[in-house]
Amino acid sequence: MRSRSLRKVAVVGRGTAGSLAAASVSRLHPDDDHELHHIFDSRIPIIGVGEGSWPSLVQELQELTDLPHEAVQQRLKGTRKYGVAFEGWGRRDRDFTHYFTPQQVSYAYHLSADLLADLLHESTRARHIDAKVHRITRIDGGAQVEFEGRAPERYDLVFDARGFPRELDPGEHIDISFIPTDTAVIRRCPAIVEETQNGPVLQHTYTRAVARPHGWIFVIPLTVHTSYGYIFNRNVSSLEDVEADFDAFLDTDGVTEFEPRAVIPFPNFVHRRIYDGAVARIGNAAAFMEPLEATAIVSAQLQIRMVLFLRFNRPSEHLERDAPVVNRFLVDNMLRYGLFVGWHYSAGSRYDSEFWRYARDRAWPKHRTAADPEAVGCDALGKFDDMIGLLNRPVIDKADRDRMCAVPLTSYAQVSQGLGC
Ligand SMILES: Cc1cc2nc3c(=O)[nH]c(=O)nc-3n(C[C@H](O)[C@H](O)[C@H](O)COP(=O)(O)OP(=O)(O)OC[C@H]3O[C@@H](n4cnc5c(N)ncnc54)[C@H](O)[C@@H]3O)c2cc1C
Repeated sequence: MRSRSLRKVAVVGRGTAGSLAAASVSRLHPDDDHELHHIFDSRIPIIGVGEGSWPSLVQELQELTDLPHEAVQQRLKGTRKYGVAFEGWGRRDRDFTHYFTPQQVSYAYHLSADLLADLLHESTRARHIDAKVHRITRIDGGAQVEFEGRAPERYDLVFDARGFPRELDPGEHIDISFIPTDTAVIRRCPAIVEETQNGPVLQHTYTRAVARPHGWIFVIPLTVHTSYGYIFNRNVSSLEDVEADFDAFLDTDGVTEFEPRAVIPFPNFVHRRIYDGAVARIGNAAAFMEPLEATAIVSAQLQIRMVLFLRFNRPSEHLERDAPVVNRFLVDNMLRYGLFVGWHYSAGSRYDSEFWRYARDRAWPKHRTAADPEAVGCDALGKFDDMIGLLNRPVIDKADRDRMCAVPLTSYAQVSQGLGC
């Protein structure tokens, strides 16, 4: 049996990525007698933001929890996200919406990250180990996890979902700082969408992405609260200036009270080795880019599904040969997301501020060097250029209309129209 090479699995980390992986192993493993260890250090908090998603999560959560969609949405204190509403982006100074396709039909969730983890834990059958992991290393035919204060254990597969790397190392990480932001200020405000008594909220909602002089602000409506985040670059703008502009924005939005939640620095990167045959990095440990298009949860879904599909379905003698192919596929996809997100800055915004000049004129042009196929070992840049090329054609052939480069051609077309590029 193929899954025999996958008797003992570990998931390290209990954030969104680790929780998704543990539930996926529990639900999808073909052998009931597999052993799953879900390891996390309760002294290291999860990042706890990550409230926007893509439509594939709706189906995935139904499958993983075995609950009806309505129940899942209510458990998540969620709303239905039909797209992202951009305000003040691009050279046309025109607001526009990036809808999921088909427009007004396909929806994702705005969700509470904490409640998502709780929901997934109910679908997970695992031995829980609260311990700090020092090291995860590949060994013959598997991986070894070394703990603080416990004996090491050997596993057939380890999902490493320990969150952001401490620092970027050019040998290990592809730096994608053509994305010009690196810090978020998070505030929590009262709900603007009310929970209903007899079912999920059906109202169509959108993540707002509002351009501001120092970056942009997201507004995510849940039924328990509304999340606001100011995304900026700490080398270009001071935290004081950002907080002051955040106050001004909330004031004009009519928000009179808020709870300051966190200031979160973040890297923009893709790990060069997401999967090596025994260790699969997932979530923020595998790649990260600022949350403009909510690409993190959907990336974790892809990483987990891809690795599990392969390990459940391919005979183990192919494992060594498959690993680099799968790794290249995942790196390529993460870079495509990065290029799609960075491109949003290419036409500036309604603000001719230091941040927007930096984003458009200095950061974004670096994407050609950062994603050079020679340097990254895959051709995400070529595929991205192909999408932009398609948009510039007078007629798009029927055969090309379903093309994707991380996201569908319809997403590129809507953003390109909206930005005026
Ligand atoms: C401002 C901001 C907004 C975001 N918005 C969105 C969004 O709208 N949509 C979206 O998809 N994503 C968003 N994200 C991304 C979001 O962070 C991820 O989707 C998600 O939280 C994945 O986190 P994670 O599980 O990889 O890591 P984390 O949440 O950081 O979890 C790490 C886990 O690993 C454990 N751990 C760490 N080190 C060790 C160790 N040595 N030993 C044992 N355990 C360890 C910790 O205890 C924890 O359980 C946003 C991110 C930021 C910064």
